[in-house]
Amino acid sequence: MIIGIIGGGQLGMMMAEAAKKYQHTIIGLDPNSLCPLSYVADDIIVSEYSDVSAISKLIETCDVVTYEFENVDLELIKKYENKIPQRSDALHFSKNRLIEKEFAKNLNIKTPRFFRYVNQKVLIPSIIKTTTGGYDGKGQFKIMSQSDIDQFKLNKNTEYIVEEYIDFDYEISVVATRDQYGKKVYYPVPRNTHKNGVLFLSEALNDIDGLIVSKAINSTSLILDKLKYIGTLAVEYFVKDNDVIFNEFAPRPHNSGHYTIEGCTVSQFENHILAITGEKIKDSTLVNPSIMINVLGKDKDYIKRINSSNIFYHDYLKYEARSNRKMGHITIVSETKSDTISKRNSIIEGQL
Ligand code: ADP
Ligand code: MG
Repeated sequence: MIIGIIGGGQLGMMMAEAAKKYQHTIIGLDPNSLCPLSYVADDIIVSEYSDVSAISKLIETCDVVTYEFENVDLELIKKYENKIPQRSDALHFSKNRLIEKEFAKNLNIKTPRFFRYVNQKVLIPSIIKTTTGGYDGKGQFKIMSQSDIDQFKLNKNTEYIVEEYIDFDYEISVVATRDQYGKKVYYPVPRNTHKNGVLFLSEALNDIDGLIVSKAINSTSLILDKLKYIGTLAVEYFVKDNDVIFNEFAPRPHNSGHYTIEGCTVSQFENHILAITGEKIKDSTLVNPSIMINVLGKDKDYIKRINSSNIFYHDYLKYEARSNRKMGHITIVSETKSDTISKRNSIIEGQL
């Protein structure tokens, strides 16, 4: 099949790597001719995401199209929905944090308290976030006291959401794939740690309380079915006092599921490709305890020198190593949990 990928970042790159296993042809669309996907795709259409005619051309040329991020034109996705298995509902609800949280609430999924920011009304403590366009912690302001409000130069023309600050015990995500036959596969639930709003660690060690896992999977199942979603999707949750609180969902493979490439019998990318090409998805289990570490900014130079077994490095081949930019990731998959954790510690301390 000819698969089109809107967005040429690392997610597109890893989708394409999985698609190659099935001899699919890949055409990507990205403003940058040297984007990560360009090293794997058969062709790249170099175009801005706002260029409706270029995206239309991509969709018309391909048998099926997938998007790797939420910043895609909703109307265009609606128009070509028959060729885009992820469908437009998933985008509609995930593009705007207010609409997204209302959506979860309507499914009876617990969320932090939230409301649209008007007349300087806030909760304390809370986080104010732009309703659209934010990622990796961008566009977020932590409000710990009333005076914090004056400190932040909130833009009058931007819509914000005020979210109750959750002093969570830890964060998890459920990465799942649903196919057109209604089958759903859930990958082992990782525990996620963020640094400056950017994901740093995803640890799939099979050590999360069973009740927490089943609550999170139940909510994720409701979301997948409501959206009639086909492909891989992830839902982020806060865990507090044995309860699971919805944070956000992403209608695409997710950074916290990268460990599935080496850590599971089938990866989130392979099942995404199977689902969107109309095939049946495969069950996926944890092969070994796995930890994924994101390689941010200039850490790349150190990571490249690591030479140790059971450690897999994925270089996204980006040119510019801006601070906090995701340059690659490594996955540690050791036979024992203790060895996986000890390798993680050595890497974080820069001693491998
Ligand atoms: P992004 O789209 O940038 O991933 P998120 O809403 O997931 O935005 O926020 C990034 C991170 O910031 C979260 O994973 C969490 O660590 C922290 N965070 C976000 N919202 C809250 C909240 N309401 N309470 C506590 N921490 C939060
Ligand atoms: Mg997030």
